[in-house]
Amino acid sequence: MGSGKTRANPNNRPTVRHPSHDHPLRVFKSQEGDEIICSGCELELIGQAYKCTKSECNYFLHKSCFDLPGETHHKSHPDHPLTLVHSPPYGQSTFTCDACGEHGSGFTYHCSNCHYDVHVGCAFVPESVEREDHEHPLTLLYNTPCKGREDGVTFICDVCEEDMPENLWVYYCKECDYGTHVHSCATYEDNAAKKGEEEGETSSVASEMKSVMDARMEMAMMQLQLDAIDAAGSYVGSWEPRRGYYW
Ligand SMILES: [Zn+2]
Ligand SMILES: [Zn+2]
Ligand SMILES: [Zn+2]
Ligand SMILES: [Zn+2]
Ligand SMILES: [Zn+2]
Ligand SMILES: [Zn+2]
Repeated sequence: MGSGKTRANPNNRPTVRHPSHDHPLRVFKSQEGDEIICSGCELELIGQAYKCTKSECNYFLHKSCFDLPGETHHKSHPDHPLTLVHSPPYGQSTFTCDACGEHGSGFTYHCSNCHYDVHVGCAFVPESVEREDHEHPLTLLYNTPCKGREDGVTFICDVCEEDMPENLWVYYCKECDYGTHVHSCATYEDNAAKKGEEEGETSSVASEMKSVMDARMEMAMMQLQLDAIDAAGSYVGSWEPRRGYYW
């Protein structure tokens, strides 16, 4: 990269519409270090993406967020399908994610029956992660290991040391009774990533985590598309392995 930094005439490039936004969007490639936040998942925008064509409008979407399925059956919420909504439900400006416990203001997978909401990024976190500072892989649980305890003991995140409500998701090592929140506590964002973005070295753990998440998200979406196809009762058996690989 580097020398050929010519910008194509924007008028020559096709625009696309997305139901989440009133203006047309155009293909956009984000570089690491741009520090752009995706308006859908609210995570850093890296790789193939879309940008609003209005220069004053800071609306960006990952390609993967652009392509999110409108409905998903999620293991964390087996009784009802979750519906993708593009802005916080309940007429509020934010929602609380039932996976990580943090607020969101972008897209959510939502169950209106149960008022269950999950960041789209949290919906596709890997089922197992490794972290540099723990010797065992951590497994994703859809509630804390203390759920249902009658003695009132609550689980404490081993990274931020805060009490976790029993229905939050946890990355957990049973052997060591070690566990973390699934979002910021799982990704080192606050430690290495912030200042080392240009170096590329100090942020390697974080970006590795991000790319793992991206890859997992892509795989999960391929699976979701498959599920949707299965559910529709068509195309069964005609699955092509590279079908979901847009990037
Ligand atoms: Zn996104
Ligand atoms: Zn716009
Ligand atoms: Zn979340
Ligand atoms: Zn529900
Ligand atoms: Zn935590
Ligand atoms: Zn362990």
